[in-house]
Amino acid sequence: MKKIAILGSTGSIGTQTLEIVEQNGDIQVTALAAGSNVRLLEQQVRRFHPSLACVWEEEKARELKGLLADEPVRVVSGMEGLLEVAAEPQAEILVTAVVGMIGIRPTIAAMKAGKDIALANKETLVTAGHMIMPLARERGVRILPVDSEHSAIFQCLNGEEGRTVHKILLTASGGPFRGWSRERIAGVQVEDALKHPNWTMGRKITIDSSTMVNKGLEVMEARWLFGVDMDQVQVVVQPQSVIHSMVEFTDGAVMAQLGVPDMKLPIQYALYYPHRRYLPGQRLDFAKLGTITFEEPDTEVFRGLKLAYEAGRRGGSLPTVYNAANEYAVARFLKKEISYPAIIEMIEGAMEHHQIVEQPDVEQILAAERETYEYIESRW
Ligand code: NDP
Ligand code: MG
Repeated sequence: MKKIAILGSTGSIGTQTLEIVEQNGDIQVTALAAGSNVRLLEQQVRRFHPSLACVWEEEKARELKGLLADEPVRVVSGMEGLLEVAAEPQAEILVTAVVGMIGIRPTIAAMKAGKDIALANKETLVTAGHMIMPLARERGVRILPVDSEHSAIFQCLNGEEGRTVHKILLTASGGPFRGWSRERIAGVQVEDALKHPNWTMGRKITIDSSTMVNKGLEVMEARWLFGVDMDQVQVVVQPQSVIHSMVEFTDGAVMAQLGVPDMKLPIQYALYYPHRRYLPGQRLDFAKLGTITFEEPDTEVFRGLKLAYEAGRRGGSLPTVYNAANEYAVARFLKKEISYPAIIEMIEGAMEHHQIVEQPDVEQILAAERETYEYIESRW
């Protein structure tokens, strides 16, 4: 029986991971961690019987302990707790489905404990890819991508030699505001931005998809995962979200992975790699689909994508600033405290202000995150 631990089990990816566990029936869940949703975590513990459960907030952890007094589960909290879940001795794979840079330290802890990582948390690679990838090689652990585009690329690379990759064609839906002008976008409200045309996801990533910052983060994620330069990753808008990404090889051959937009496929692929399992659900019907179209992204309207290339090319601590500024700005936008265009203005302002640290370690990454928050707070 395969054994897994999940960070962020109550979120969009976390709950879908547990659905995969349930459908297959041959994976044991050894540890779960969430932020504050103790009600759902309680249900998950009762259903999957992990030996360890973590809630970020201490008070909520006490509440969970009370709720689960009749279950043989140890309840922990905070970063210590997350690190315990990450390194839980029985698990072979850690699914990192927390949102934000909070994922960095537990991911490193899990790798040091010899676990493969089913990586959904893109912020970890964006900010710490220069440490994570060498560590994976050193420890002989696998980074199995869960993000659908990266899973697609990973699938296209099956049996290929890495050095024959010419270009990665990262597809994007273009989000709900594809084709809009800058002026029109300026008036976007939270409710508009939370409507993604093809995917159902957590709130933060849904906003990121609408600004194309998500795609920017994914370009940086891809460059680390697949060992290519930023300029070898090209974003292609494919509004139907049927092609999940493509790889162009040195001989001009292009491989693509297609499927209905459903995160369960990449999640299951990561959990069972290199094996494929039956997955119930909708299938692509090409006759019904009719056409698949392609466009170039409009980086004048979606400046977040352009800024991501800038951050990724320059490297060091700048991707952390890009990511932190976006996290902060999106949280404030979701609270309706700032306008939609202010998200990108904050990212740009924070990047301009930052003094880049080369090859930052975890402390320096977290310091850059804090400084970014402080700078934005002082300016806006
Ligand atoms: P959600 O917001 O739906 O879920 C986030 C999860 O993280 C929740 O379980 C939340 O717990 C937990 N969490 C938040 N803060 C903490 C904390 N301090 N300690 C422990 N747990 C915490 O996010 P998504 O599932 O959408 O995304 C997760 C990651 O996967 C992100 O990095 C995202 O970019 C990436 N991703 C997501 C995709 C998707 O389809 N959703 C697709 C590709 C990548 P609680 O509920 O208790 O707050
Ligand atoms: Mg994605």
